[in-house]
Amino acid sequence: MGELTIATSEPLEPGEFPPTYGAAAPPTTDAALLTQPGHDLWRHVSSQIADLVALFDDGTLLVLKGHRADVNVRDFVQRARALGYAVRAVHEVTMDDLADRRRSGSASGTNQRIAAAGGDYSTDVDPNAVGIGYIRNAFAAGATDVHIEVSHGANRTRVDARINTLIHPQLFEQAAEIGEKVVRALYNLGDAGEGTFSTTVSKTTRLSRQSVADQSGGKHMLPDGIKSCRYTSFPIQDGIGCSIRIHPVEAAGRSLQELGLAEAQEELLMELGTDGEGGLTLVAGMTGSGKTTMLKSWLEAVYRHHEGTKRFVGVQDPHEVDIVGMLSMDAAATDDAEARQDEYDAILKRIARADPDFLLLGEIRDRSSARLAMSLANFGTFVTSTFHAESAAALPFRLAGTEFGLEPSQVFNHHVTRGLAHLRLLPRTCPDCSIPIGQWPDRRTELHSAGSATLTPDDVLRRYDRIIARIDAYCRHVAAGPAALDAVRARGPGCPTCCGGQIGSRPRPLRGIKGMTIAAHVMRTDARFMALVRDGRISDAEAHAYHRDGDVNRLTSLDRAVAKVVSGEVDPATVLARFRKLQSDRLLAEDPGISGESAEACT
Ligand SMILES: [Zn+2]
Repeated sequence: MGELTIATSEPLEPGEFPPTYGAAAPPTTDAALLTQPGHDLWRHVSSQIADLVALFDDGTLLVLKGHRADVNVRDFVQRARALGYAVRAVHEVTMDDLADRRRSGSASGTNQRIAAAGGDYSTDVDPNAVGIGYIRNAFAAGATDVHIEVSHGANRTRVDARINTLIHPQLFEQAAEIGEKVVRALYNLGDAGEGTFSTTVSKTTRLSRQSVADQSGGKHMLPDGIKSCRYTSFPIQDGIGCSIRIHPVEAAGRSLQELGLAEAQEELLMELGTDGEGGLTLVAGMTGSGKTTMLKSWLEAVYRHHEGTKRFVGVQDPHEVDIVGMLSMDAAATDDAEARQDEYDAILKRIARADPDFLLLGEIRDRSSARLAMSLANFGTFVTSTFHAESAAALPFRLAGTEFGLEPSQVFNHHVTRGLAHLRLLPRTCPDCSIPIGQWPDRRTELHSAGSATLTPDDVLRRYDRIIARIDAYCRHVAAGPAALDAVRARGPGCPTCCGGQIGSRPRPLRGIKGMTIAAHVMRTDARFMALVRDGRISDAEAHAYHRDGDVNRLTSLDRAVAKVVSGEVDPATVLARFRKLQSDRLLAEDPGISGESAEACT
């Protein structure tokens, strides 16, 4: 193409997408838009990206924010270049900017034929491709969840993703009309569960590899690495929301210690699973705290220990994880409360007849599942289940409450309810770009680049110093002596190890993070502990458990989190933000709670 002045400063290496995030749109020029119907290049613009790119004849490529590294965009750049078109500078722009520039581009420049042929771009969009593309790109960036929010008022769809426990906002943007088509299309790619899609009623379905291939006539596939997705749509104020939980194909199960548990905690869990006493072990934690991953590793280790001589039965609703050796009796995804309850009750009856030695109940969520878990545990079956709760000690207290209505003499019997666990999931700092504590003063700018944008580098340094003082206070209080803090490392500014080729395009809160680790508390109950919990004296029960001699109980989830800070695995600021107890001397002076958050545990 012709020689043109470039209005931007960003040179583009072949195949390279320079790291600018949310860069301002380049100033308007009178360059002509190439990517529009009627131009030769248009047929090389795949439907997946027709709305995402605008290439001008001065070599400027505008890409919708978040799509710079999209594989389809990269393909397009390669193809355009192969056809002799220049692609000299890439800008990520907002949807409004992109639309404006397309309009002005199509009306200006030399190519009047193109302007005359301008049409409605959105009609070319394949919502299946866009939806699967969101999932693919989010998953490639490490996401566990994708959230789509269609707002007709603002004529906008925003797509967020949860990556390493944090929300990565506006991974993609889209027009509201297209967003709604995508939400509808994704529902239709699922197992036909709840009839016709509706924007006014919440809908749930499951996208499996099979259902996506079947429903799209083989045209679309879930990306390799994803086994299935749990889909939920729901009406919101002026549009529709949709949440997609991604269930990856499991890697070979990792050991409990590899997941972040202490050796003594692994030993206690193995003892509970192999001593032949059965009983109930409950695992607490918020959504996304690693409960399912931990249960998989634990139960598979127990299964290996028994060498196939025990019968393992599992019921998960929804099915989240495959466990080696386990017979699965899962409930179908449905949002109809009555149908769900009927099916669930039928499954629970079948389980009792299936004669399990080991039962995994994905979650205790109502009276019937609670009652089944307790009655099997009472007869010596090993039962484990999860619960959404902020602390371990509050678990039996809640089970005996009116919501679940279990018999207190069973719940508070430490021979029946034998084990309690509480998990917190923490992001791990990337080992390659994290900053050792000794280098903080000299590298404050790098510390700053991973932290808050509203603080100066000096502020950030002072903040880290204060946090270290809190960690030090905790170590003195708990271990009655100072800890060696010279191995502490702060999260770094991001590097190819943790951010791949998109360092700059990652928002600050996500840079320098690589994987996660579990900070767990695992305890065995005893008669005194249960008596205190039964009286509602949760803090006293926690203190009793904590002070039991030489016991694994002393490893609280906060204790484990601090240990991970001291070893340089977790950023100290992360731990301070997530454990209230670290934040004041008054809380620190209280008896060590099991979760470090005992004040919130039993309300
Ligand atoms: Zn890194």
